[in-house]
Amino acid sequence: MTQVINGKEIAGQIREELRHKVMKWKAEGIEITLAVVQVGNDAASGIYVRNKKKACEDIGIHSLSCQLPEETKEQELLNLIDSLNSRQDVNGILVQLPLPGHISEEKVLDRISPLKDVDGFHPRNVGAMCIGKTGFVSCTPAGIIELLKRSNIEIAGKECVVIGRSNIVGKPMALLMLRENATVTIAHSKTKNLKEVAGRADILIVAAGRPKMITSDYVKEGAVVIDVGIHRDENNKLCGDVDYYNVASRCSAITPVPGGVGPMTIAMLMYNCVESISL
Ligand code: NDP
Repeated sequence: MTQVINGKEIAGQIREELRHKVMKWKAEGIEITLAVVQVGNDAASGIYVRNKKKACEDIGIHSLSCQLPEETKEQELLNLIDSLNSRQDVNGILVQLPLPGHISEEKVLDRISPLKDVDGFHPRNVGAMCIGKTGFVSCTPAGIIELLKRSNIEIAGKECVVIGRSNIVGKPMALLMLRENATVTIAHSKTKNLKEVAGRADILIVAAGRPKMITSDYVKEGAVVIDVGIHRDENNKLCGDVDYYNVASRCSAITPVPGGVGPMTIAMLMYNCVESISL
């Protein structure tokens, strides 16, 4: 029987745990505030921002909305980040991506104080993760580790293949699996014989951004398959990088899309906000 990993349920458990922590902080007079910065009116970004604010509300975190017009100059945004960095009452800063083309995302993300970088994108936090020091960890990969652990899937000693090497998913994912003592291979668009490489995996994590790319001939019998991708298919239905119905019966466990990795990303963002109090 294939275990369908229920990300919605696990994210719900994490949010419940966080709600209790936030209540305890509040009882001690400590309020957590996340500043959410959005530049422009991109519709998809608007939905993500609304969901993040709703998640804050749900667990008792205060969200401070900073909505700037599309034509905002890079320096104006950097000035806003500087002022949020210096505010004692702001614990976390999130800048919704993508930014308009005239603003350097790298410059903006590097400007956020590493102590308030709840997305875990700042080079200092990435470096800390690499060498196993305390810091914020990128939310999607951190969420996948939680999914595996809370589904009682053993990681240590397992062959793990991560497809994708982006700075926000693939690379941190591989490092976190290494930290959990998996034997890790990173595959990407230049990898030769991807089917053979992927087929070695006990745990296959797919973050390639290619709808339904992974079919059963990429998957070893009994493997655990984690699908990070999120797309709309030809019928406008949500789907992942994995061709779920083709692959599921071959796996010991698999994440669906929607309801797998997606809900964990926001739950881990909330986790990072709560952790920001102790950093
Ligand atoms: P990127 O586009 O930044 O990276 C994709 C990676 O996949 C690259 O490293 C690329 O290789 C590799 N790749 C692309 N095509 C192939 C191929 N045919 N074979 C092997 N490797 C390939 O994407 P992200 O990492 O940002 O995101 C990946 C997916 O996850 C997207 O669908 C995104 O929407 C989704 N996502 C979902 C989240 C969630 O919360 N559920 C959060 C973040 C992302 P190369 O480096 O050689 O170009």
